[in-house]
Amino acid sequence: MFSGYGKGGLFIQNRYDLAVVGGGAAGLTAAVAAAEEYIKRHKHARIVVLEANSRVGKKILATGNGRCNLTNSGIDPIHYHGDTSFLPDFLSHYPPEKIISFFQSIGLVCREQDEGRVYPYNLQASAVLDVLRRQLEHFQVETICDFPVTRLKKTAQGFELFRETESVTAAKVIVATGGMAYPQLGANGSGYQILKELGHNCTKLIPSLVQVTTEPRRAKPLKGARSPARASLYADGKLIAESSGEVQFTERGLSGICIFELSRMVGERYGRQKLELSLDLMPEYPLERIVEFLKQRSEIEELPALELCSGFLNKLVAPEVVKAALPHVPKTVGELDEHQLEEVARTVKRFRFPVTGTLDWKDAQVTAGGIPLDEVDSNLQSRCCPGLYLAGEILNIDGDCGGFNLHWAWSTGLAAGRSAAKAESEGEKGLGKPKKSSPRRETGNQKRRK
Ligand SMILES: Cc1cc2nc3c(=O)[nH]c(=O)nc-3n(C[C@H](O)[C@H](O)[C@H](O)COP(=O)(O)OP(=O)(O)OC[C@H]3O[C@@H](n4cnc5c(N)ncnc54)[C@H](O)[C@@H]3O)c2cc1C
Repeated sequence: MFSGYGKGGLFIQNRYDLAVVGGGAAGLTAAVAAAEEYIKRHKHARIVVLEANSRVGKKILATGNGRCNLTNSGIDPIHYHGDTSFLPDFLSHYPPEKIISFFQSIGLVCREQDEGRVYPYNLQASAVLDVLRRQLEHFQVETICDFPVTRLKKTAQGFELFRETESVTAAKVIVATGGMAYPQLGANGSGYQILKELGHNCTKLIPSLVQVTTEPRRAKPLKGARSPARASLYADGKLIAESSGEVQFTERGLSGICIFELSRMVGERYGRQKLELSLDLMPEYPLERIVEFLKQRSEIEELPALELCSGFLNKLVAPEVVKAALPHVPKTVGELDEHQLEEVARTVKRFRFPVTGTLDWKDAQVTAGGIPLDEVDSNLQSRCCPGLYLAGEILNIDGDCGGFNLHWAWSTGLAAGRSAAKAESEGEKGLGKPKKSSPRRETGNQKRRK
């Protein structure tokens, strides 16, 4: 058994009522919610958060460019992907108002900005982490950092949680270890392995909300440019998704929120289908208007041909559109015929890029895929391992940009924390309607335990 001094000189006890694995958005919320629930039930409970990093909540500080877009007033299942059949019921219990009022109850005032995005009022992600940490201290929840859980063992009394050969025990456990995205802030997929050993499955994992890559010769000349556009993703020549917003051109490809939102589909299909991204650089203008404008522009005969579009496109983008439209670019616009002007106008509406994949985990904001939602009940309790709860990105749900992923992390944290504490004080019975476990999911481990 492990015992000693954790961060801040706290004595690490070796037996807890509840251990939360992972001190990120979901884990910290789960610990606060569980502590509140135990207090409501007049039970003095010992709760510990075990965090692999040297401090909790590192990723929270990086969210929303340091401002933490913590939820969205337009929370709706259409903004989520994965096992979405779980969502309508769950999100009806956890609307954005509930998350905002949870934060308000622990001292954080929020504000709504464009497109329903909700931030802390002072626009500082550190405020979100501070109120969570203070609340944990207030409830005397222990936090043990530098404690990467490597194994979770079911015992007669609950669970034993190992860091290499040392361990602590707990009656209940919430696993909130996140996914694979942004490993520089602690994600390493270890939670999936821990859960697989207890009988869970895991779907294919794909980096999502990430840059889409293209051929270097197409990307490099555009590096640093930004342009509003409607982005369309084609698979084997068929339009499969569209998204609008500001596109940012990078050394490797295309970025920006509207590209991030298409990246999940790229990850799913790349290697199986031929993918192409097409940008409409003037979505509000019909083709004919652009042709008219280019004809008018070509009347300044001595204007360099590469500057044909520079009056309305980004300076770096404008010459690349002309080059993409014309196999041979003449010196001046006066040398362009009508057909060539039309071809340039068509390229403004359809500036195409072959897709060569996405960037990897270290650039992705979220993990698409995870532990299937039919392996937990409506209280987020594991169906293969009673007493174990799951919360956050580790589950097979991922959201669009705009506060949807943190909303999922906070709300599953709240749900798992409350359920674990209630089940603790009510004995082993779950809180929701029990659903039948799917025999399809039964693994070798489960069979052996019977
Ligand atoms: C740069 C960036 C910006 C983002 N901005 C936003 C935004 O503005 N709005 C939004 O909604 N979403 C945003 N996201 C997504 C959002 O941050 C995540 O979806 C969310 O943090 C997931 O919460 P989580 O608690 O499930 O996982 P995480 O936040 O990843 O927390 C998991 C924690 O578990 C710890 N851990 C992992 N394995 C172990 C182990 N074996 N033992 C102990 N501890 C372990 C990790 O160190 C980590 O602290 C952003 C993501 C990134 C990378």
